[in-house]
Amino acid sequence: MQNKIDIKDLSYDELEGYVIGNMLPKFRAGQIFEWIYRDVASFKEMTNLPKALIESLEKDFYIGRVKIEAMQHSKTDNTRKYLLGLKDGNSLECVLMDYSYGKTICISTQVGCRMYCEFCASATGGLIRSMTSGEMLEEVMAVSRDIGERIANIVLMGTGEPFDNYDQVIKFIKVINHSKGLNIGQRHITISTSGIVPRIYNFADEKLQCTLAISLHAADNGIRSRIMPINRKYSIEKLIEACEYYIKVTNKRVTFEYALIKDINDGAKDAHKLGTLLKGMLCHVNLIPLNKVEGKEYEKASKNSIDSFKGILEGYGVETTIRRRLGSEIDAACGQLRQKYKTH
Ligand code: SF4
Repeated sequence: MQNKIDIKDLSYDELEGYVIGNMLPKFRAGQIFEWIYRDVASFKEMTNLPKALIESLEKDFYIGRVKIEAMQHSKTDNTRKYLLGLKDGNSLECVLMDYSYGKTICISTQVGCRMYCEFCASATGGLIRSMTSGEMLEEVMAVSRDIGERIANIVLMGTGEPFDNYDQVIKFIKVINHSKGLNIGQRHITISTSGIVPRIYNFADEKLQCTLAISLHAADNGIRSRIMPINRKYSIEKLIEACEYYIKVTNKRVTFEYALIKDINDGAKDAHKLGTLLKGMLCHVNLIPLNKVEGKEYEKASKNSIDSFKGILEGYGVETTIRRRLGSEIDAACGQLRQKYKTH
């Protein structure tokens, strides 16, 4: 397999370039692309291609597949958490959730992460490497293959900071959205960032229709810098400025994720500060009851404090929902399953 490239790492345009470079008509790229996303396991199954083209594809590429190493299934809410093995021996996690609006997969974009958010299990081992767009596609395809169903929505909110792997993530979105590929609409894709401000400007300028979610988790710089070191580089003010630019350019609402942590960010004072910060902005707040992470001191906020936090925000006219806790009886906080199976 040496020197061969995973064909799933190619965008449609790159595949077209390959076909043209081999003196073949452009439409062959469309045929190959369709076969890949019909999930064939070998080039020989691409029955409408000339033999010579199949041979050159075999010479230059392989069809990357990940291996399901473990799976936890929550019978209560039908959440499935997968540990997937990559060809270099690394593992990653993704979670499939069963919402009323369709199966939703939360995928990883990096093996590990270098953002070191305090409440996150993925941060413990640091960043091992970024994933390729083909590997991200395979997360979606492997899970879809396993359940025998199409996946309707994709959330880039698993292990890794998507904007720390910006180019591959954008490529992934374009490939998965392609009409000859899996054809998952951009409106069905949510990308989450801990707040890499320059990339938020870049992302706005891409003018994609995806939802942008910001992991905010505090409206106070002191608290946020403590639980999210990225805030020491890009303050809340800079982050909000970037979000305002995103809203202006795309006319799209931004989602703010806020994990409520007992006695850290769940008080009335915190809610008022957040309400003041977001008042009048085209946005939505998702309050998340924190999943307990083994080995971390943080506890989830009480139901009462979550409810009153929501009430205070709504008093500022900020649209707020409390996210249903899916998979809470399995290891559903990002990084937890991987931690259990691997020591890196
Ligand atoms: S919460 Fe996300 S960005 Fe923060 S360390 Fe974990 S994976 Fe990285």
